Amino acid sequence: KSKKASKKLEAKKDGSKPLYPQPLQTFGELESTYGIAGRMGDNLAQQGYKIPTEVQMGSLPLLLRPETALGASADFGQVADVNLLAVAPTGSGKTLAFLIPIVNAIVQRRRISEDKKIHELEAIVVAPTKELASQIVNEAKKLSIGTGVKVFGMRKGMRITARVDEEEGEDDGSSANEGGEEKEQQVVKQKGAEAPLARGDILVTTPGLLLNAISTPSPDEHTPLPNVKTLVLDEADVLLDPLFRDQTLGIWNSCTNPELRVTLWSATMGSNIESLALETLHSRKARLEIDTES
Ligand code: ADP
Ligand code: MG
Repeated sequence: KSKKASKKLEAKKDGSKPLYPQPLQTFGELESTYGIAGRMGDNLAQQGYKIPTEVQMGSLPLLLRPETALGASADFGQVADVNLLAVAPTGSGKTLAFLIPIVNAIVQRRRISEDKKIHELEAIVVAPTKELASQIVNEAKKLSIGTGVKVFGMRKGMRITARVDEEEGEDDGSSANEGGEEKEQQVVKQKGAEAPLARGDILVTTPGLLLNAISTPSPDEHTPLPNVKTLVLDEADVLLDPLFRDQTLGIWNSCTNPELRVTLWSATMGSNIESLALETLHSRKARLEIDTES
Protein backbone atom coordinates (compact mmCIF):
# COMPACT_ATOMS: atom_id res chain seq x y z
CA LYS A 1 0.00 0.00 0.00
CA SER A 2 1.26 3.43 -0.88
CA LYS A 3 2.71 5.52 1.92
CA LYS A 4 1.18 8.60 0.40
CA ALA A 5 -1.49 10.21 2.53
CA SER A 6 -4.80 8.95 1.31
CA LYS A 7 -8.39 9.57 2.11
CA LYS A 8 -11.22 7.15 1.92
CA LEU A 9 -14.73 8.44 1.95
CA GLU A 10 -17.67 6.20 1.71
CA ALA A 11 -21.34 6.87 2.22
CA LYS A 12 -23.67 4.02 1.57
CA LYS A 13 -27.31 3.33 1.77
CA ASP A 14 -27.65 -0.28 2.82
CA GLY A 15 -24.57 -1.41 0.94
CA SER A 16 -25.48 0.19 -2.35
CA LYS A 17 -22.94 2.12 -4.36
CA PRO A 18 -20.87 4.68 -2.47
CA LEU A 19 -21.82 8.33 -2.54
CA TYR A 20 -19.19 11.02 -2.37
CA PRO A 21 -20.24 14.28 -0.83
CA GLN A 22 -18.32 17.39 -1.76
CA PRO A 23 -15.75 18.03 1.00
CA LEU A 24 -15.96 21.26 2.90
CA GLN A 25 -13.29 23.69 1.66
CA THR A 26 -13.57 26.56 4.13
CA PHE A 27 -15.35 27.28 7.38
CA GLY A 28 -17.13 30.08 5.52
CA GLU A 29 -19.10 27.42 3.63
CA LEU A 30 -20.65 26.34 6.91
CA GLU A 31 -22.70 29.49 6.81
CA SER A 32 -23.11 30.00 3.06
CA THR A 33 -23.84 26.38 2.07
CA TYR A 34 -25.02 24.69 5.21
CA GLY A 35 -26.79 27.56 6.93
CA ILE A 36 -25.13 27.32 10.32
CA ALA A 37 -25.65 30.26 12.64
CA GLY A 38 -23.35 33.20 11.93
CA ARG A 39 -22.52 33.28 15.58
CA MET A 40 -21.01 29.81 15.41
CA GLY A 41 -18.88 30.92 12.47
CA ASP A 42 -17.74 33.92 14.49
CA ASN A 43 -16.83 31.66 17.38
CA LEU A 44 -14.70 29.49 15.09
CA ALA A 45 -12.96 32.54 13.68
CA GLN A 46 -12.46 33.88 17.19
CA GLN A 47 -10.47 30.77 18.02
CA GLY A 48 -8.29 31.21 14.97
CA TYR A 49 -9.64 28.26 13.00
CA LYS A 50 -9.22 29.08 9.32
CA ILE A 51 -9.12 25.89 7.28
CA PRO A 52 -11.02 22.73 8.21
CA THR A 53 -8.91 19.66 8.91
CA GLU A 54 -9.36 16.62 6.68
CA VAL A 55 -11.75 14.85 9.02
CA GLN A 56 -13.78 18.06 9.33
CA MET A 57 -13.83 18.49 5.53
CA GLY A 58 -15.18 15.00 5.08
CA SER A 59 -17.60 14.64 7.97
CA LEU A 60 -19.25 18.06 8.21
CA PRO A 61 -21.00 17.89 4.82
CA LEU A 62 -22.39 14.47 5.77
CA LEU A 63 -23.59 15.49 9.19
CA LEU A 64 -24.81 19.03 8.62
CA ARG A 65 -27.13 18.70 5.67
CA PRO A 66 -26.59 15.44 3.90
CA GLU A 67 -29.25 16.07 1.31
CA THR A 68 -27.15 18.95 0.01
CA ALA A 69 -23.82 17.24 0.36
CA LEU A 70 -24.91 14.02 -1.29
CA GLY A 71 -26.81 15.61 -4.13
CA ALA A 72 -30.24 14.93 -5.53
CA SER A 73 -29.39 11.33 -6.43
CA ALA A 74 -28.88 10.34 -2.82
CA ASP A 75 -31.78 8.57 -1.25
CA PHE A 76 -31.18 8.18 2.45
CA GLY A 77 -34.84 8.37 3.40
CA GLN A 78 -34.49 10.28 6.65
CA VAL A 79 -31.19 11.69 5.44
CA ALA A 80 -30.70 13.88 8.45
CA ASP A 81 -30.20 10.76 10.52
CA VAL A 82 -27.13 9.42 8.78
CA ASN A 83 -24.84 7.65 11.23
CA LEU A 84 -21.11 7.99 10.99
CA LEU A 85 -18.02 6.05 11.85
CA ALA A 86 -15.02 8.37 11.52
CA VAL A 87 -11.44 7.24 11.94
CA ALA A 88 -8.72 9.90 11.90
CA PRO A 89 -5.42 10.35 13.73
CA THR A 90 -5.02 11.93 17.14
CA GLY A 91 -4.85 15.71 16.88
CA SER A 92 -6.79 15.86 13.63
CA GLY A 93 -9.69 17.91 15.01
CA LYS A 94 -12.33 15.26 15.61
CA THR A 95 -13.80 17.18 18.56
CA LEU A 96 -14.90 20.12 16.47
CA ALA A 97 -16.09 17.74 13.77
CA PHE A 98 -18.65 16.19 16.10
CA LEU A 99 -19.51 19.34 18.03
CA ILE A 100 -20.40 21.62 15.10
CA PRO A 101 -23.32 19.43 13.89
CA ILE A 102 -24.83 18.94 17.35
CA VAL A 103 -24.65 22.61 18.33
CA ASN A 104 -26.04 23.53 14.92
CA ALA A 105 -28.93 21.07 15.17
CA ILE A 106 -30.01 22.58 18.47
CA VAL A 107 -29.75 26.14 17.17
CA GLN A 108 -31.83 25.21 14.10
CA ARG A 109 -34.48 23.38 16.08
CA ARG A 110 -34.72 26.25 18.53
CA ARG A 111 -35.25 28.69 15.67
CA ILE A 112 -38.47 26.92 14.78
CA SER A 113 -39.39 25.89 18.29
CA GLU A 114 -42.44 27.42 19.91
CA ASP A 115 -40.87 27.46 23.30
CA LYS A 116 -37.23 28.48 23.16
CA LYS A 117 -36.75 28.08 26.87
CA ILE A 118 -36.98 24.33 26.98
CA HIS A 119 -33.71 22.47 27.28
CA GLU A 120 -34.40 18.90 26.33
CA LEU A 121 -30.98 17.26 26.51
CA GLU A 122 -30.70 16.66 22.80
CA ALA A 123 -27.17 15.37 22.55
CA ILE A 124 -24.88 13.22 24.67
CA VAL A 125 -21.15 13.04 24.14
CA VAL A 126 -19.49 10.08 25.84
CA ALA A 127 -15.74 10.11 26.41
CA PRO A 128 -13.64 7.56 28.30
CA THR A 129 -11.99 9.92 30.84
CA LYS A 130 -13.03 12.91 32.94
CA GLU A 131 -10.11 14.93 31.59
CA LEU A 132 -11.18 14.38 28.01
CA ALA A 133 -14.80 15.09 28.91
CA SER A 134 -13.85 18.42 30.47
CA GLN A 135 -11.80 19.40 27.39
CA ILE A 136 -14.84 18.64 25.24
CA VAL A 137 -17.06 20.75 27.52
CA ASN A 138 -14.64 23.68 27.12
CA GLU A 139 -14.52 23.38 23.35
CA ALA A 140 -18.30 23.03 23.12
CA LYS A 141 -18.84 26.10 25.30
CA LYS A 142 -16.56 28.21 23.11
CA LEU A 143 -18.40 27.07 20.02
CA SER A 144 -21.77 27.82 21.64
CA ILE A 145 -21.09 31.35 22.89
CA GLY A 146 -24.06 33.56 22.10
CA THR A 147 -26.18 30.77 20.61
CA GLY A 148 -28.21 29.99 23.72
CA VAL A 149 -27.08 26.38 23.58
CA LYS A 150 -26.19 25.05 26.99
CA VAL A 151 -23.41 22.54 27.47
CA PHE A 152 -22.71 20.80 30.73
CA GLY A 153 -20.44 18.14 32.11
CA MET A 154 -21.86 15.26 34.08
CA ARG A 155 -21.12 15.31 37.78
CA LYS A 156 -21.51 12.69 40.42
CA GLY A 157 -25.00 12.65 41.87
CA MET A 158 -26.56 14.68 39.09
CA ARG A 159 -30.12 13.79 38.25
CA ILE A 160 -30.99 13.42 34.61
CA THR A 161 -34.40 14.17 33.24
CA ALA A 162 -35.44 14.22 29.66
CA ARG A 163 -36.84 17.72 29.67
CA VAL A 164 -36.15 20.77 31.81
CA ASP A 165 -37.80 24.16 31.80
CA GLU A 166 -35.55 27.20 31.94
CA GLU A 167 -37.25 28.68 34.98
CA GLU A 168 -39.48 26.84 37.36
CA GLY A 169 -42.99 28.18 37.04
CA GLU A 170 -42.21 30.29 34.00
CA ASP A 171 -44.02 28.64 31.16
CA ASP A 172 -45.62 31.34 29.06
CA GLY A 173 -43.40 30.55 26.06
CA SER A 174 -42.19 34.14 25.88
CA SER A 175 -38.99 34.56 23.93
CA ALA A 176 -38.19 37.87 25.57
CA ASN A 177 -34.76 36.76 26.66
CA GLU A 178 -33.69 35.63 23.21
CA GLY A 179 -30.25 36.97 22.54
CA GLY A 180 -30.05 37.98 26.15
CA GLU A 181 -27.45 36.99 28.62
CA GLU A 182 -26.71 33.36 28.98
CA LYS A 183 -27.18 31.85 32.36
CA GLU A 184 -24.00 30.35 33.70
CA GLN A 185 -25.83 28.05 36.03
CA GLN A 186 -26.59 24.62 34.72
CA VAL A 187 -27.21 22.77 37.91
CA VAL A 188 -30.01 23.73 40.23
CA LYS A 189 -30.36 22.61 43.78
CA GLN A 190 -33.88 21.34 44.10
CA LYS A 191 -35.87 21.97 47.23
CA GLY A 192 -35.56 19.16 49.74
CA ALA A 193 -33.14 16.31 49.58
CA GLU A 194 -33.29 15.65 45.86
CA ALA A 195 -30.08 15.41 43.88
CA PRO A 196 -29.06 18.35 41.68
CA LEU A 197 -30.93 18.42 38.42
CA ALA A 198 -28.87 18.37 35.27
CA ARG A 199 -30.04 20.93 32.76
CA GLY A 200 -28.85 21.80 29.34
CA ASP A 201 -28.87 20.75 25.72
CA ILE A 202 -25.58 18.89 25.41
CA LEU A 203 -24.26 16.58 28.08
CA VAL A 204 -20.63 15.48 28.10
CA THR A 205 -19.94 12.49 30.31
CA THR A 206 -17.89 9.44 31.04
CA PRO A 207 -19.88 6.22 30.62
CA GLY A 208 -19.92 5.35 34.33
CA LEU A 209 -21.23 8.68 35.57
CA LEU A 210 -24.14 8.76 33.16
CA LEU A 211 -25.02 5.13 33.60
CA ASN A 212 -25.18 5.64 37.38
CA ALA A 213 -27.53 8.55 36.90
CA ILE A 214 -29.93 6.64 34.69
CA SER A 215 -29.70 3.24 36.39
CA THR A 216 -31.70 4.05 39.45
CA PRO A 217 -33.38 2.36 41.16
CA SER A 218 -32.55 -0.91 39.42
CA PRO A 219 -29.14 -1.26 37.77
CA ASP A 220 -30.68 -3.21 34.89
CA GLU A 221 -33.38 -0.72 34.11
CA HIS A 222 -32.30 2.59 32.67
CA THR A 223 -34.27 5.76 32.47
CA PRO A 224 -35.08 6.19 28.80
CA LEU A 225 -33.77 9.34 27.16
CA PRO A 226 -36.19 9.69 24.24
CA ASN A 227 -35.28 13.28 23.40
CA VAL A 228 -31.64 12.60 22.74
CA LYS A 229 -31.18 12.94 18.99
CA THR A 230 -27.44 12.49 18.75
CA LEU A 231 -25.15 10.18 20.66
CA VAL A 232 -21.44 10.79 20.14
CA LEU A 233 -18.91 8.15 21.16
CA ASP A 234 -15.52 9.84 21.31
CA GLU A 235 -12.52 7.53 21.38
CA ALA A 236 -14.98 4.86 20.40
CA ASP A 237 -12.28 2.20 20.29
CA VAL A 238 -11.82 2.65 24.04
CA LEU A 239 -15.56 2.98 24.77
CA LEU A 240 -16.21 -0.31 23.00
CA ASP A 241 -13.34 -2.27 24.47
CA PRO A 242 -14.26 -4.88 27.10
CA LEU A 243 -13.74 -2.46 30.01
CA PHE A 244 -16.39 0.04 28.90
CA ARG A 245 -18.43 -1.83 26.35
CA ASP A 246 -21.40 -2.79 28.54
CA GLN A 247 -21.67 0.70 30.00
CA THR A 248 -21.46 2.30 26.59
CA LEU A 249 -24.08 -0.01 25.14
CA GLY A 250 -26.29 0.61 28.19
CA ILE A 251 -26.26 4.31 27.41
CA TRP A 252 -26.85 3.64 23.73
CA ASN A 253 -29.88 1.48 24.58
CA SER A 254 -31.32 4.24 26.77
CA CYS A 255 -31.36 6.58 23.79
CA THR A 256 -34.71 5.33 22.61
CA ASN A 257 -35.47 7.92 19.96
CA PRO A 258 -36.06 5.98 16.73
CA GLU A 259 -34.40 8.79 14.79
CA LEU A 260 -31.27 8.68 16.96
CA ARG A 261 -28.07 9.52 15.15
CA VAL A 262 -24.92 7.84 16.45
CA THR A 263 -21.49 9.08 15.50
CA LEU A 264 -18.34 7.18 16.46
CA TRP A 265 -14.90 8.81 16.45
CA SER A 266 -11.62 7.05 16.84
CA ALA A 267 -7.94 7.26 16.01
CA THR A 268 -7.83 3.56 15.26
CA MET A 269 -10.15 1.14 13.58
CA GLY A 270 -10.22 -1.73 16.05
CA SER A 271 -12.17 -4.92 15.46
CA ASN A 272 -14.47 -3.94 18.33
CA ILE A 273 -15.64 -0.87 16.44
CA GLU A 274 -15.75 -2.47 13.04
CA SER A 275 -18.00 -5.33 14.13
CA LEU A 276 -20.26 -3.10 16.19
CA ALA A 277 -20.59 -0.64 13.37
CA LEU A 278 -21.50 -3.43 10.99
CA GLU A 279 -24.06 -4.84 13.41
CA THR A 280 -25.77 -1.71 14.58
CA LEU A 281 -25.19 1.02 12.05
CA HIS A 282 -26.36 -1.20 9.23
CA SER A 283 -28.59 1.43 7.69
CA ARG A 284 -27.98 5.15 7.16
CA LYS A 285 -24.32 4.38 7.59
CA ALA A 286 -21.48 6.55 6.46
CA ARG A 287 -17.86 5.77 7.01
CA LEU A 288 -14.99 8.17 6.78
CA GLU A 289 -11.39 7.16 7.11
CA ILE A 290 -8.47 9.57 7.11
CA ASP A 291 -5.11 7.82 7.02
CA THR A 292 -2.18 9.10 8.97
CA GLU A 293 -0.04 11.38 6.86
CA SER A 294 3.52 10.17 6.47
P1 ADP B 1 -8.53 14.72 17.97
O1 ADP B 1 -9.76 14.58 18.79
O2 ADP B 1 -8.75 14.31 16.54
O3 ADP B 1 -7.35 14.03 18.56
P2 ADP B 1 -8.75 17.48 18.72
O4 ADP B 1 -10.19 17.65 18.38
O5 ADP B 1 -8.43 17.30 20.15
O6 ADP B 1 -8.14 16.26 17.90
O7 ADP B 1 -7.96 18.71 18.09
C1 ADP B 1 -6.58 18.85 18.24
C2 ADP B 1 -6.21 20.32 18.23
O8 ADP B 1 -6.46 20.88 16.94
C3 ADP B 1 -7.01 21.14 19.20
O9 ADP B 1 -6.14 22.00 19.89
C4 ADP B 1 -7.95 21.94 18.33
O10 ADP B 1 -8.26 23.18 18.92
C5 ADP B 1 -7.17 22.09 17.06
N1 ADP B 1 -8.01 22.24 15.85
C6 ADP B 1 -9.16 21.60 15.58
N2 ADP B 1 -9.64 21.96 14.37
C7 ADP B 1 -8.78 22.86 13.86
C8 ADP B 1 -8.71 23.61 12.63
N3 ADP B 1 -9.64 23.48 11.68
N4 ADP B 1 -7.68 24.46 12.46
C9 ADP B 1 -6.73 24.58 13.40
N5 ADP B 1 -6.72 23.91 14.57
C10 ADP B 1 -7.73 23.04 14.81
MG1 MG C 1 -10.24 13.48 20.42
